[in-house]
Amino acid sequence: MEGKIFYFLLFFFGLTWGSFLNVLIFRYQPNKKFNIFKIISGRSRCPYCKRKLLVKDLIPVLSFLILKGKCRWCGKKISFIYPIVEILSGILAVIIFLKTSPSLFLFLLWFLIFSDLLVLSFIDLKHQFVPNQLLDLFFLLSLITVIFFQIPSHYIWKIFPQFDLRILNHLVGGLIFGLPMWLFCQKTKEKFLGLGDAKTMAISCFLFAWPVSILVFNLSFLIGGFLSLILIFFFGKTIKSKIPFLPFLSLAIFLTFLFENQIVDLYLTLF
Ligand SMILES: [Zn+2]
Repeated sequence: MEGKIFYFLLFFFGLTWGSFLNVLIFRYQPNKKFNIFKIISGRSRCPYCKRKLLVKDLIPVLSFLILKGKCRWCGKKISFIYPIVEILSGILAVIIFLKTSPSLFLFLLWFLIFSDLLVLSFIDLKHQFVPNQLLDLFFLLSLITVIFFQIPSHYIWKIFPQFDLRILNHLVGGLIFGLPMWLFCQKTKEKFLGLGDAKTMAISCFLFAWPVSILVFNLSFLIGGFLSLILIFFFGKTIKSKIPFLPFLSLAIFLTFLFENQIVDLYLTLF
């Protein structure tokens, strides 16, 4: 019973944190510098009528349901992205806790990493743009995670000690996928993928290190390809539509984070 209450509170914490992430997503403007203090200061307002929201309208998910997804004052529709981000953040909090328990430090690091990726993904969906400041944060969090946790405890290095070259593996992992993608973006003038996508790929492959970085790379294009086909066949997108890549990459990173060891084991059973 106590366990259930704890996870409920953790989920609620995630929902509330998601409201904060929504502020970052919705107040971000691509042509302005990303200034977090400027973005989070000031009361929330309706984007249409500009009237201030009441405190009771700020309860995650619940307010959206009570108001039936409309502004209290002008009745204009509120984006359904708000409750989606809140619910995703709540689910992330619980799943990441289950995965990282009992280390609170590790929980905080991964929760911040996936919060950052959640904001990046939705900004990419809204604006087809990847803010550098959020990428710097992703790199900093990854670096701390690599030094304190990944290097001492890589599962694959216990099975294949010959792969265990410590930080070198991480650098190789990042460069081997990040660099060609970066060059591809330069050559194609970012027509298909942006430099922000290449940088995110490099950082996430650095985070997971060679050879697990192969998994991140392949999964992101597999998910991206599969969902793009669905968009093309069912939602009228064309081959030429620029499809935001960060949501796919973030999902690949999350799956690798959750199932890295199982996938390595599965791979080994094939031989
Ligand atoms: Zn309004």
